[in-house]
Amino acid sequence: MEHFDTIVVGAGVAGLTAARLLARDGRRVAVLEARDRVGGRVWTDRTDGLVTDLGASWIHGVTDSPVAAAAAAFGMRTAEFTVGGYQPDSRPIAYHGPDGERLPDADAHRFAADIHDVDATLLDVVAASAPDASYRDVTEAALARQAWDAERVQRVREYLEHRSEEQYGAWIEDLAAHGLDDDSIDGDEVVFPEGYDRLPQQLAEGLDLRLEHVVSHVRWSADGVVVSTDRGSFAADTTVVTVPVGVLKSDDLVVEPPLPEPVAGALGRLEMNAFEKVFLRFPTRFWDDGVYAIRQQGPESRWWHSWYDLTSLHGTPTLLTFAAGPAARETRDWPEGLVVESVLAQLTRLYGDRVEQPTHVHRTDWQGDPFARGSYAYMTVGSSTADHDDLATPIGGVLHLAGEATWTDDPATVPAAMLSGHRAASNILGRDIPIDEVWSN
Ligand SMILES: Cc1cc2nc3c(=O)[nH]c(=O)nc-3n(C[C@H](O)[C@H](O)[C@H](O)COP(=O)(O)OP(=O)(O)OC[C@H]3O[C@@H](n4cnc5c(N)ncnc54)[C@H](O)[C@@H]3O)c2cc1C
Repeated sequence: MEHFDTIVVGAGVAGLTAARLLARDGRRVAVLEARDRVGGRVWTDRTDGLVTDLGASWIHGVTDSPVAAAAAAFGMRTAEFTVGGYQPDSRPIAYHGPDGERLPDADAHRFAADIHDVDATLLDVVAASAPDASYRDVTEAALARQAWDAERVQRVREYLEHRSEEQYGAWIEDLAAHGLDDDSIDGDEVVFPEGYDRLPQQLAEGLDLRLEHVVSHVRWSADGVVVSTDRGSFAADTTVVTVPVGVLKSDDLVVEPPLPEPVAGALGRLEMNAFEKVFLRFPTRFWDDGVYAIRQQGPESRWWHSWYDLTSLHGTPTLLTFAAGPAARETRDWPEGLVVESVLAQLTRLYGDRVEQPTHVHRTDWQGDPFARGSYAYMTVGSSTADHDDLATPIGGVLHLAGEATWTDDPATVPAAMLSGHRAASNILGRDIPIDEVWSN
């Protein structure tokens, strides 16, 4: 059996970061990856010469972001696109009222101001919330403190439901009260016109990568680990397991002996979400000019409420919308044509007969991906923010979990994945590694 200093399971950003830092230190490291590519949930499609990020696309705030620093060091071109964090008014947004008509600017500003007022109230309400409170509970408490009529409350309530879905892919009653605590944006948001996958590709350079190795068992003891795959077993002194929470909770990958506390409890309280991207390419750009996004309010906005104009990035008229939370679960088995019809019905409310049939549609299926089982993890009701870091508690001195779900400060992101990989490598080496070693030569 081949023996390594460290085996890293998973070649996403977390695993590649850990492997790169350990290899730099002279350790013998192998990365076992189930897919035939690196990057995991960072995945760029290049069909027909168009660059489409099917997984992560944004850096949600470049200030002090290790991913922004790595991208700059790797020469990755970025483009500012500051609406990714479901912000109400960071950049121009065309809001349409419940009747489908575009709101006058003054009404749109008032709506955004209402959201900011509720958010200011929410800080205290969330801080004082019971351990089993949901995001619905705290947002209702915050809304109750505003002296508004029912209509005004309902518009903001819808927005808060959509934010829970678009940010965490979870229905508002299923998300913990603290589930959006770390949802802050520091600086501009940017995307990668040439594809986010350049990041994992750069991180992977020079590593001993074993692609198409599906790990089924991780057996650990004081003596080290044995990792079994469909292509044989590998031994190591230590291992970093970076598979998504959904894989870790499934029978597809078994850890023996089972994960101890506090890791097991934390894992039980985190769940994979339902969050899919729907890209629609059109012959012409029939929607509002000069805006980053289009949003609609009212009962018709339950599923399809926000569209992002990617035309300038993709060089062809393109809208991105999300099936998030209940919409993702319910449309999961729909044929593509039905999804398109459902989305176009809403766009038609806003733009009438200017709406065209798309020439090309791309819909993701992260829920059906056996190596992801959803897009990212969310905090179920009853979980606390500490569950993220608890998940990374080193086990028996030999087993380390890393990945987006193991990072408390801004989980569910690429920076969280990178920082968690950096932490796992630091724990194994027993010293603090400067973060810039991730991207320096
Ligand atoms: C649709 C979507 C949109 C997103 N948008 C953003 C965004 O805009 N900004 C942002 O910052 N983040 C975003 N994210 C989240 C971000 O992509 C993830 O947080 C991050 O990429 C996770 O990295 P990771 O290394 O923790 O996990 P992964 O990238 O999932 O890496 C884990 C690896 O383990 C492998 N693996 C799984 N099972 C096995 C097995 N049995 N054996 C061997 N290998 C296995 C997987 O194939 C994968 O390569 C988005 C994600 C999705 C899906």
